[in-house]
Amino acid sequence: MKRELDSATLELIQILIKKSENKNKISNQMKKKLDILFENAKRKELTFPIIEFFISLKNTVEEYSMSAPDIGFKKEELIYLAKKHQEIDEHGVSVGGRIIKAANVVSEANHRIMAYVENKNSISSGIEIWDRIQGNIERIKKLLGMNDDEWNSYEGQLKHAINSVNTLSKIIDLPKNAIEDIMRITKSYRMRLTPYYASLIMPLDMGDPILIQSVPTGEMIDNSGIEIEPVASDHSPARLIDQFYPRVVSLKVTNMCAMYCTHCLRIAHIGKKDKLFSNDAYSEALDYIKKSKNIRDVLITGGDAFILPNEKIKWILKELDNIKHVKVKRLGTRIPVTCPMRIDEELLRILSESNKIKPIRVVSQINTAREITPVSRRAFRRLSENVSAVLDQIVLLKGINDSKAKMWKLCETLQDSYVRPYYVFNCSYRNPQFSHLRVPIEVGRDIIEGMYGNISGDAIPKYIATAGGKIPLHRDNVIRNEHGIVTLKKPWNGEMVEYPDADRRIYENNNSSFRKYIKD
Ligand SMILES: *Cc1c(COP(=O)(O)O)cnc(C)c1O
Ligand code: SF4
Repeated sequence: MKRELDSATLELIQILIKKSENKNKISNQMKKKLDILFENAKRKELTFPIIEFFISLKNTVEEYSMSAPDIGFKKEELIYLAKKHQEIDEHGVSVGGRIIKAANVVSEANHRIMAYVENKNSISSGIEIWDRIQGNIERIKKLLGMNDDEWNSYEGQLKHAINSVNTLSKIIDLPKNAIEDIMRITKSYRMRLTPYYASLIMPLDMGDPILIQSVPTGEMIDNSGIEIEPVASDHSPARLIDQFYPRVVSLKVTNMCAMYCTHCLRIAHIGKKDKLFSNDAYSEALDYIKKSKNIRDVLITGGDAFILPNEKIKWILKELDNIKHVKVKRLGTRIPVTCPMRIDEELLRILSESNKIKPIRVVSQINTAREITPVSRRAFRRLSENVSAVLDQIVLLKGINDSKAKMWKLCETLQDSYVRPYYVFNCSYRNPQFSHLRVPIEVGRDIIEGMYGNISGDAIPKYIATAGGKIPLHRDNVIRNEHGIVTLKKPWNGEMVEYPDADRRIYENNNSSFRKYIKD
């Protein structure tokens, strides 16, 4: 079957044979080069030599305003080669399509991400700066008197967790006014960093994304003039249970975390004291799930689900696996980044066994590529080998992931590290403690929309707000009135909810969080 040439190839040949008034001449050397390319193209049963010949010929024709026949290549020869290309190529791609169209599409695409590619190397992942982190680890081990076994164990990490500003200031060089302020804050808010997480902080950098997430600053008290009621009672139909949706519930199995985040939405649940929940509480929650036949997906969360001892996790999973209408279990945990040592072989076995019965997804929270180190990457790999998916919920935070380069880098690093970006949350207004970390809705939207067509679709998260359920932040779902007040529409019932956007002035003030302490 002889294929006809397509319009792009006919166009290309037309360009090549177009008569020209110029009587230029090309050098013998150049002619010789083209002849060699031509012979190659004829001789070899490959597409590339044909493309190479056509490109060189086109460049020469354009540069010297000569036609191909003037140079010594007849129209029939060009048609013969073009047809040969089309016959060799598995998908019948034509010379014209490849040269005139496809090459331009690719070059335009490369052009679009040029700024990102240049920028991304200035944003390091924890893998890329592992050398420096290892330096921190050695220093911290000495300061806290930890041996290797302690460092590499979950128990050792918890035992040596950093919860006082005195210890913290030995590890990172904090300005005096920062130390005073943290002392004031920690009377009201908990601070706890695992030594591992503290080793990710680059000392002296007051804009460090790990520092901002883990160490409370003055704003946390100064912002919180108006306490907004904890949301819990509005949608907790049973003990330990939150429910907005018919098919999904969240089961809050603990109020504990390995580390306390400065942007924690559950700051009210986390409370000031670690609590062990009673068996009665778990039983009542499970009873509720048992008798609610519409529930098919249970999100085991906290606090941090992996804070629970292995036996407890095993027991909860087994109970859920025994409920016929429960089809999927999700576990919410930040431990793979805050204390990856926790992901031990026994836990992996428990997850793997339950995953064989009904799928498990691990849902983590990773907010910057800096949180992904060889150690956390390994934890994610081991998890992904034993459950059906590992996902990430990102919180959009000022200075941490509020630029295209930072967010793209995070999403690509997640994908390299066995984790699929799932949600980006616009940081909620409900907790005034962290309003200085909020990012305006549109800033986030530009970042997420900018990913489409530029990075793998598999690495693009959904952008949402949490306001009595998760509400997507697409353009037509965010309604801003003339006073700048934003209303969001709940897709499931059409209800309109007011959602105060981040204050632009606060967002644009570069003297917040740790930066304000530098002046000392
Ligand atoms: C986030 C959340 C869920 C899960 O939402 P998905 O959109 O299914 O991931 C369920 N229940 C509560 C209370 C939640 O906060
Ligand atoms: S790990 Fe999650 S629940 Fe725990 S403090 Fe951080 S954000 Fe809050």
